[in-house]
Amino acid sequence: MYRSHTCGELRKNHCNETVTLSGWVQKSRDKGFMIWVDLRDRYGITQLMFDEERTPKEMMEKARTLGREFVIQVTGNVIERVSKNPNLPTGDIEILVTELTVLNESLVPPFTIEDKTDGGEDLRMKYRYLDIRRNPVRENLIFRHKVSMAVRNYLSNLDFIEVETPYLIKSTPEGARDFVVPSRMNEGQFYALPQSPQTFKQLLMVGGMDKYFQIVKCFRDEDLRADRQPEFTQIDCEMAFVEQEDILNAFEGLTKYLLKEINNVEIGDFPRMTYDDAMKRYGNDKPDIRFGMEFGELNEVAQHKDFKVFNQAELVVGIAIPEGNSYSRKEIDKIIDWVRRPQVGALGMVYVRCNEDGIFKSSVDKFYDQEDLAKWAEKTDAKSGDLICVLSGETNKVRAQLSALRMEIAERKGLRKSNEFAPLWVIDFPLLEWDEDSARFHAMHHPFTSPKPGQIELLDTNPGEVKANAYDLVLNGNEIGGGSIRIHDKETQAIMLRHLGFSEEEAVAQFGFLMDAFQFGAPPHGGIAFGLDRLVSILGGQETIRDFIAFPKNNSGRDVMIDAPSPLDKLQLDELSLALNLKP
Ligand code: ASP
Repeated sequence: MYRSHTCGELRKNHCNETVTLSGWVQKSRDKGFMIWVDLRDRYGITQLMFDEERTPKEMMEKARTLGREFVIQVTGNVIERVSKNPNLPTGDIEILVTELTVLNESLVPPFTIEDKTDGGEDLRMKYRYLDIRRNPVRENLIFRHKVSMAVRNYLSNLDFIEVETPYLIKSTPEGARDFVVPSRMNEGQFYALPQSPQTFKQLLMVGGMDKYFQIVKCFRDEDLRADRQPEFTQIDCEMAFVEQEDILNAFEGLTKYLLKEINNVEIGDFPRMTYDDAMKRYGNDKPDIRFGMEFGELNEVAQHKDFKVFNQAELVVGIAIPEGNSYSRKEIDKIIDWVRRPQVGALGMVYVRCNEDGIFKSSVDKFYDQEDLAKWAEKTDAKSGDLICVLSGETNKVRAQLSALRMEIAERKGLRKSNEFAPLWVIDFPLLEWDEDSARFHAMHHPFTSPKPGQIELLDTNPGEVKANAYDLVLNGNEIGGGSIRIHDKETQAIMLRHLGFSEEEAVAQFGFLMDAFQFGAPPHGGIAFGLDRLVSILGGQETIRDFIAFPKNNSGRDVMIDAPSPLDKLQLDELSLALNLKP
């Protein structure tokens, strides 16, 4: 038996008991006549003590050889401490050691195993197993487990069944590139790793499974943006015989349950906002509604004077920064520089100071009078003491730019509080989205999403206008879930694929299996998927998803611990019939 108790367990009432503990040496202090060792495991830290009077000499010597992170087993008596440590749950007691076994030695770790470590990100990732010994990382992994368990409980109680779907599949276009896996047994052919189990979960509905979920890895070979992982985890769900309303209710329920169970926060019904509204009011389809600074569109009240920049713009739009009039000229210039950075891309910014005395002072006083500026203040809901920031240009671009500014200001002002939760549904997404590069329409969600009833005809005349039964769940400015009601008949699916530019042969080659299935009694169905990594990090009040993944990849998609990806040797390549395709 390696241990009778854990290192987090012993209290005063255990005094005089003989116990056995196993764990890692956190640190030791040698006072000559006395040696103290902090022994650590997943559950906590217990102080061990050796003293000249009561400990045999050889054991005293052995205790002196213990280095940091040695794995040891001790047996001893629980005794009350003379000087207690109120910061430690086990701080009332210590173990007077009677037996000491070194189970394994350790090299000196490359960084300290402390809450605040001296190890940089790269080093910690290379030795992630040591990083996981640190409290913050371990607690995050346990936190993630709790969230996953709560999800499973909730869904299981609603009769959802967790079904595993394959990882080696055929590629389905969902917007990203597939990771592919060569098939040794089928020369020259490849599997793809799923970007999501989308088609399988729909086939489970055709199979009568009715309510499905799966906590599942998904793979997308995208250019990595900050805090994206090439493999990530979804809570993937699908239901049959449902309308959008049923899905929203079920998963609003799940989200409320998680907030209550995990964060002890009770939230009322989630607001709903159409995609069009979200874009108009926040310039963003995942608005952070924890704070105001809603957009005010100013075309009507800004395009009647001689100011060319505004007159030529498709959209003139502003936000009021609360108490922004306190910014100095220099600070405002810095904001202007910020919106002009290439990452944001605005050409310039017009501003209006709303002075306490009700007088406006703007950077365009040459063109606009007090009456005009008062109207801008009204549209942006600016109070005296605020600063109105106005951008102009092409609608989509300008909205994205102002949205970036809104988020940046909120961040700087500390308005994005991690312990405040503001979920909402964004609904009525467009079915299609124009793609500049390929100069054609793409499915905004994916090709299996159904248009709103009665809108299918619009596909021929006005494809950009067609709305979908698609929805996103947004939490604190992050899309944490998204889904749709699906097409469930062959004809509509064929029409949809045609509009996405698939020829009939291509459609059959890619999606024949799904359209075949639709001919055998496919029930109406729909679903949603939550990004688990992001959800966990938001509930955990932290920004980076990497902190909640046991073995994450770095920003270049590498696992620096196992050093992957890596080249294959010739033999392996030959076996996969890949060698010929490689450059010399
Ligand atoms: N498969 C979709 C996704 O991964 C979610 C869904 O439509 O259920 O985003």
